[in-house]
Amino acid sequence: MKKITLSVVALTMTMMSFGQTQCKSLTKDSVQCKNTTKTEVLLCHVHNPNHVSSSDKVTVICSGMTKKNTKCKSKTKDITGLCHNHRKQ
Ligand SMILES: [Zn+2]
Ligand SMILES: [Zn+2]
Repeated sequence: MKKITLSVVALTMTMMSFGQTQCKSLTKDSVQCKNTTKTEVLLCHVHNPNHVSSSDKVTVICSGMTKKNTKCKSKTKDITGLCHNHRKQ
């Protein structure tokens, strides 16, 4: 049992380090921003000066996966980064 618990902890920590991180910036009320970010600068889209606004639509390759478990090759301008096939309707 102890071994299982340890591996769960390790897995959780791995997921945290590779997943979303809380923005390190402070809000106007001097509390830590609750937005999460995946950027290396640890700033959310609100606090990151380099963030590209969603109004500046850029065509990206869909981040979805096909049934064959390969990356989708469709292009999209959707802010989710998913093509019309992978977006939830
Ligand atoms: Zn923030
Ligand atoms: Zn797609």
